[in-house]
This record gives sequence, structure tokens and C-alpha cells, in this order.
Amino acid sequence: MIKLGWVPAETTFVNGRWQPNYGGGPGFTSTMWLEHSRGHTDHQWRSYSFDGDEEVARLLFTPTYSSHSDRRAPQALLLDTIEVRTDLQRSGAHIGQIVVEGLVDDYPNWEIYAGPTASSARFWDEKLRWPRCECNNCDGRDFVVWRP
Ligand SMILES: [Zn+2]
Repeated sequence: MIKLGWVPAETTFVNGRWQPNYGGGPGFTSTMWLEHSRGHTDHQWRSYSFDGDEEVARLLFTPTYSSHSDRRAPQALLLDTIEVRTDLQRSGAHIGQIVVEGLVDDYPNWEIYAGPTASSARFWDEKLRWPRCECNNCDGRDFVVWRP
């Protein structure tokens, strides 16, 4: 599989919220990322590319998430949003998978949660095959989780 590099997106504090300065690159949904601005700094926005060249994906995650598991107390993060550039979606390049697996590599021994939407459920359930969280709150409905 190909290797992607990433850099943190620059952020701006606007009206009490941090916003990523992703700009209006073609193939990305700028408004979606402004909706995901946040009121404090416990978030990381990343911009992915091949060799520092054209941007191919964007990712937002929260590295201070509480585990749903009570059998131990691992560190956990929440993968809030991922967007693969439009022309690379379902292209066979597996960009989304590479981004998520890279995050797993960056955070070994952490739990990683994600909340599938109707449009992303196939990606999580069939492509990555992450199991649904079966805690009392989720009951298999709300989150998928990667556990080390
Ligand atoms: Zn859960």
C-alpha cells in the first residue's frame, strides 16, 4: 500500500471556536469542516498528501476521549471526521483505509472510536471490519471501535 504523509492543519480562533484553515481545495466539503470547529484545543486536524504534494484527505480526531470499556482503562481517542477527496473516493486507492490505519499506527495500544453515519457504515463495517461497540450505551448501534 502507498504511504501518505500528513501535516497538522493550521487553525484560527474565531468567535470562541477553533477552525481549521483547510481552504477551499477542490474535492473537499469546506462547509463540513467549519461545522466541525471546536471550542477548545483538544482536537487535531490533519491534512494528508502524497509526498507533500496535493492534498488527498482530511481528518479530525479528539485525542482525549473516554473509553467505553470498563474491563481496563486504556487511553482512547475519537475519530470525529474523515474526508477523502472526491475523485479518490471508491477509486481503489484505499485512501480512507490508509489514513485510518496510519492513525492506529500513531496511537498503538489506544482504543479508537468512530461513529458511522448511514453513508460511512459500509466503510467501517465491511472495509475496515471494525466491530461495533457493545457497551451498555452503544449496544452495537452508535460506535465502531478498534481495540488493541
Ligand atoms: Zn460504546
